Amino acid sequence: MFQRTHILWALLAVGALALPFAVPIPYYLHLAIIVGIYAIVLLGMDLLVGYTGQVSLGHAAFFGIGAYAGGLLMTKLGVPFGVALLAAAVVAAVFGALLAAAALRVSGPYLAMVTLAFGTIVQILINEMDWLTMGPIGLAVDKPRLFGEKLGTTQYYYVVLGFVALVLVCTNRWATSHFGRAFEALRDSPIATECMGISVARYKAIAFALSAALAGLAGSLYAVSEEYISPNTYTFELSLLFLLGVIFGGRKSRAGSLLGATVIVMLPTLLDSTVLFRWLAACATAGALYFCVRSVRSDGLVALRSVLPPLLITAGLLVFSFQVQNLNEHRLSIFGLLILLAVFYLPDGLMGMFRTVGGRPMAAPALASTAAPVGATPKVLSILDITMRFGGLTALNAVSLEVQPGSIHGLIGPNGSGKSTMMNVLTGVYTPNAGSVTLAGRQIQGGRPHGIASQGIARTFQNVQLFWEMTALQNVKVGLHHDFGTNLLALALGARASRVRESQADAQAMALLALVGLADEAGTDARDLPYGKQRLLEIARALALKPSILLLDEPAAGLTGPDVAALVQVLRKVKDFGVAMVLIEHHMDMVMALCDVVTVLDFGQKISEGNAQQVRDDPRVVSAYLGTAAA
Ligand code: ADP
Ligand code: MG
Repeated sequence: MFQRTHILWALLAVGALALPFAVPIPYYLHLAIIVGIYAIVLLGMDLLVGYTGQVSLGHAAFFGIGAYAGGLLMTKLGVPFGVALLAAAVVAAVFGALLAAAALRVSGPYLAMVTLAFGTIVQILINEMDWLTMGPIGLAVDKPRLFGEKLGTTQYYYVVLGFVALVLVCTNRWATSHFGRAFEALRDSPIATECMGISVARYKAIAFALSAALAGLAGSLYAVSEEYISPNTYTFELSLLFLLGVIFGGRKSRAGSLLGATVIVMLPTLLDSTVLFRWLAACATAGALYFCVRSVRSDGLVALRSVLPPLLITAGLLVFSFQVQNLNEHRLSIFGLLILLAVFYLPDGLMGMFRTVGGRPMAAPALASTAAPVGATPKVLSILDITMRFGGLTALNAVSLEVQPGSIHGLIGPNGSGKSTMMNVLTGVYTPNAGSVTLAGRQIQGGRPHGIASQGIARTFQNVQLFWEMTALQNVKVGLHHDFGTNLLALALGARASRVRESQADAQAMALLALVGLADEAGTDARDLPYGKQRLLEIARALALKPSILLLDEPAAGLTGPDVAALVQVLRKVKDFGVAMVLIEHHMDMVMALCDVVTVLDFGQKISEGNAQQVRDDPRVVSAYLGTAAA
């Protein structure tokens, strides 16, 4: 079945193939080659910036590393073109993984600083290591030969076009696979990603290495295209330009990367000519004015607050374009301003303007079976003398309890008594100061969250932690991550098995959504769901891990009466699948209705334990918790 987007891609492909015939001017073909090379960089960078949300201000360094690795291999060692390209990608990927390792501890502005420093160091090294790189003089590289003849611009255009097509297909397959989902998940909630059994460190490193590899590949293609490599190409300005391309074109979009590459190649050309720049500024101002008038017409003067700033900025640029003599001096400021404009007013980039309102239409996959989607292996969870201190505060003081297979174990107590802390200890988010946690006879305390999750402990969070930009179905599929065995290479080759698994996973995820009553919301983004449904989605996602034990941290908080009743039904069904649960809850009627055993905490101490009835009648519990609740 062909959709409109397929037709557009086909037209683009035909246009790209026909370009050398339509425009047989070497200058324009050369520009098209650069667009293609930058597109390869941006497609890779989008995996890192768009999907994992990690900002890199050092990608020009990977581009440079690839250029020098490929160039040196070809000129000094006579390595064939194709092999040199592959080697350049591998060398850049190694640097990418190293940078990821260095950058793992930091995020946000600190990560930007680390990548910036990396870019600067690489540029300095290229300059200083003259014995290898010829320093500032640079290095001449020859175009590869075919039957003894050097490739011409047109032939090289087709070589680059081939690589663009290849990278386009590969990045698209990766981005839509379980790798892409893991990348997006760790962007939206690293802690939930870990608790879904996915190592955040590992997938950050994979994203860094992939994007570095593609930048390296592009770098060596660039070296050959220019037939010359020199250190002052791989500057901070180029890194900024790449970032601008990703954001301006549109995150998480292959078409956005192509569009972004076109914009950033044309932009410096535009800045070379004051006349062209004036035209551009005039068009932008006209566009902003149009949006301004349209919004004021429909929403009145209040709309001005949001649409006036871009109008003022573009009008300012227009005035500025008539004042300025030499635009080149202001390149960096103009790039900076464009990034600001894009971040504030085009959060989804240029592609975002073309996307139809309401997002992608999602065909809900047919429900394959309502049979038990959860195949839990019964396991005993034993907690022995767990102590957890934060500075001088003892949040848990030698607490012991045992969760029997298939039972629902209540954990109640006043606010601040240590219930959530216990969940965090059980899932490896905190390492306890003393005591042990044993799952089916194996000690798990001190392990990483993703390792513990893989052993069968799943959880929900007191403050909902969903993958906000992903649909409900995709959220659940993140939990099915380990059911996919396919690696990056197999995905790139379009292994049929991986496609079969996607549809199996769709069916399983749909069954889980149906279990919690969210089948109709499969295609809705998590951030657009009402609060009650977000909580249910967290449960469906946790069940996708096929856990033996499910930890629920105040699942009914903020739910209305009917929603609470629905939740009780859901938890009963989950229990029927043999999943044991630890339930933290303030709704006493829910605790009474569901729990086989209840443990009561107060100031980090266990003050009572027994069946729901016994605990409710315990005078210590009444005075510490229930009495105050009743009051
Ligand atoms: P509950 O879930 O029972 O309401 P918590 O387990 O969240 O209680 O908190 C128990 C105590 O531990 C509180 O006093 C809280 O302030 C403290 N606490 C929890 N997490 C941290 C932390 N990461 N750092 C410092 N103190 C913490
Ligand atoms: Mg809590």
